Amino acid sequence: MIGVVIIGSGIAGLACARTLAAFGFAPVVLDKGRGIGGRVATRRVDAMQFDHGAQYVTAQNSSFATLLSELETDGALAKWPGEGDRPRYVGRPGMSALAKAFGVGLDIRQGVQVKGITKTDDGWALQLGDSVLKARRVVLTVPAPQVAGLIGADHQLVADLAPVRLASCLTLMAAVTGPVPFTRRLDQDDPLTWIALDNSKPNRPQGPELWVAQASHDFSERHLEQDALGIANAMLPLLCDRLGVTAERVTYAAAHRWRYARVTQALDQLFLTSADGTLHLGGDWCIGPRVEAAWQSGTAIANDILARL
Ligand SMILES: Cc1cc2nc3c(=O)[nH]c(=O)nc-3n(C[C@H](O)[C@H](O)[C@H](O)COP(=O)(O)OP(=O)(O)OC[C@H]3O[C@@H](n4cnc5c(N)ncnc54)[C@H](O)[C@@H]3O)c2cc1C
Repeated sequence: MIGVVIIGSGIAGLACARTLAAFGFAPVVLDKGRGIGGRVATRRVDAMQFDHGAQYVTAQNSSFATLLSELETDGALAKWPGEGDRPRYVGRPGMSALAKAFGVGLDIRQGVQVKGITKTDDGWALQLGDSVLKARRVVLTVPAPQVAGLIGADHQLVADLAPVRLASCLTLMAAVTGPVPFTRRLDQDDPLTWIALDNSKPNRPQGPELWVAQASHDFSERHLEQDALGIANAMLPLLCDRLGVTAERVTYAAAHRWRYARVTQALDQLFLTSADGTLHLGGDWCIGPRVEAAWQSGTAIANDILARL
């Protein structure tokens, strides 16, 4: 029987695990993905790399600001210079370095998909394909719309999180030789809302210009069910147009579908917990569409568990 199992090695799950580990506990983190970090991700292809999820991290509260500053000192983060009131930090050499730094020393098991969790007399049973894992406490940090599939649509907590909404975001990664009219651009009225030259971030491999473009909510919803090739084909002409280049300049292009990317309606509380306090739900969707929100939610869950022990 494991004391605490955390489902999700995104920033919320890692923040929860880190805090518990700091108090001598040994939580087990399970995640269905290949690499840790969830939506804080870096895609590597040959010598190229793209931050295809979160672009950078900022801090609104002082404890998170201190943590980011410490990670900068440790070499896991660097400031990405530019406009804005708050420093924008990026992982070194990619955004996934942030998750890796959070995950140091933790028991994290990637490639493990939890199919469902059910209450038992002394805790929870987690269905993992052919096997079952038992835990006294479970922390679920998956995107809110995926909770019902794990605990059952008729669970009270599913009703509690019903107001939460997450929007999709399609992302294009492209290597394009040629002019660099800008290094990053935010335009809420453009179907490509965000375009950034990924290797304008510090400590990135030099070479061909590597671009990341994120589609608007409307564009993403319209093309959501296309396959990756179809999404890339829909987004690439827009990127070429914005960069002022022809398609011959493109040496690589791929797309990624984030079905649950950005919180558009948050829960407005740090986490949810079952009546007996053995099941916690959290993630960015509790607070807002930011890495910091995920960290706050995961940390608050850990503190609640510690207070109950
Ligand atoms: C394209 C994009 C751009 C963004 N840009 C920024 C930005 O610039 N700055 C910023 O602060 N934020 C940004 N964000 C938001 C930020 O990435 C998120 O707020 C944050 O990473 C969410 O962390 P989380 O831990 O709550 O969830 P997630 O990162 O989604 O983690 C949940 C984890 O649960 C796992 N999981 C799900 N179901 C199961 C299951 N059944 N079994 C096992 N594991 C499971 C998933 O694999 C995932 O790793 C962006 C997000 C996207 C998608």
